[in-house]
Amino acid sequence: MTESDPKPRLWIRDPLAILAADAAGGVVVQGSRIVECVSAGARPADPVDETFEAGRHVVIPGLINTHHHVFQTLTRAHPLAIDKPLFPWLKALYTVWPRITADAFRLATRLAYTELLLSGCTTAGDHHYLFPKGLERSVDIQVEEARASGIRAFVTRGSMSLSERDGGLPPESLVQDDDTILEDSERVLNLFHDRAPGAMVQIGLAPCSPFNVTKRLMRESAALAERHDCRLHTHLGETLDEDAYCLAMFGQRPVDYLEEVGWMGPRTWLAHGIHFNDAEIARLGRAGVGVCHCPTSNMTLASGQCRTCELEAAGSPVGLGVDGSASNDSSNLMEGVRHALMINRLTYGAERVSHLDALRWATEGSAACLGRSDIGRIEEGREADLALFTLDELRFSGAHDPLAALVLCGAHRADRVMVAGAWRVIDGQAVGIDAGALREAHTAAARHLFGTA
Ligand code: ZN
Repeated sequence: MTESDPKPRLWIRDPLAILAADAAGGVVVQGSRIVECVSAGARPADPVDETFEAGRHVVIPGLINTHHHVFQTLTRAHPLAIDKPLFPWLKALYTVWPRITADAFRLATRLAYTELLLSGCTTAGDHHYLFPKGLERSVDIQVEEARASGIRAFVTRGSMSLSERDGGLPPESLVQDDDTILEDSERVLNLFHDRAPGAMVQIGLAPCSPFNVTKRLMRESAALAERHDCRLHTHLGETLDEDAYCLAMFGQRPVDYLEEVGWMGPRTWLAHGIHFNDAEIARLGRAGVGVCHCPTSNMTLASGQCRTCELEAAGSPVGLGVDGSASNDSSNLMEGVRHALMINRLTYGAERVSHLDALRWATEGSAACLGRSDIGRIEEGREADLALFTLDELRFSGAHDPLAALVLCGAHRADRVMVAGAWRVIDGQAVGIDAGALREAHTAAARHLFGTA
């Protein structure tokens, strides 16, 4: 084949079920994109070079994770942190995190990306806010690992600049000064941020939360995002402790704080978004601010329930995230879809929230939070990011509706995952990853961190 030859066309044929309009006959993939949706009983309009028989597979758009902290895979189920709500949980882990080395962080990133891929996730958003001595180039490591794994990455350059000494929550060892943060933010934007459709790596700016950054950093980050055309992300409305902190420190509630620092616009998406009142939801919706719902973490830390339905009705995109692996304590987004269904049903009732809503949050909703119209749905012209699950395990036996079964019976491991037209998971294994060796090295790094190696 010469360079001018068209790329081969792959027909993912006659799936058991597919989450897409008029594509019961499957999809044709060419290069990185879906070029055709095939109706039931039909054949592709043009000849194909290859066929993948998908009669055992339920096909959904690749899941999109819009909030995570991959470094936290090193401190899962940590004895200092379990059974605590957010603030005491954070203060306990702040004593451990400064010891994370660049090598350990690389393994943590690789492990989280692999876990995400295996759960059917094709776009990994991460909020990385830990830059102690030795980890100053964390974003670079995350981008290198994303490129090696083949997952689509949305890395946000997080930050903490307000230490205990200045009234913040983190210790001095975990903060950087505002100028260092802004300089590095600009560096990674210039190096890695791809604004083109089909981008495999994008960068956002993500000062960690009101209780650990300065207002100046929030304002300057918004200005930098405007100049570089990138998204803004932060934690907001996660706990009542945060409300109390903002009132005591700034004399305002978190949403007023967000408005004052110039973040009330469609560039912004927030992690958690739980403790908003009706008027605040209306303001966020009008401004087009997105919210990443993190059901597993919110239940683990007992933070509360994001008002997903009211936010969507008000105009806010709602996506889904696993949140950090120390408050989840895994990186499995498909499990997150099930948790989203359950907690939202508890809040809104069984008839108001369906498995399709939960899947929509994890796909289209997440894509909207990231400002992307090229991923999140299976349709002609979009990127070929697909997750294929089989229903061969005992837990699915007797299930009738295949798409409902994925969520209700608890699918948690994809059989095949495609990112930008390339298979990244085959037969339930991540391509190019020795999972056993990775687990061993990652476990050793975590033990070393904990002082038990
Ligand atoms: Zn978080």
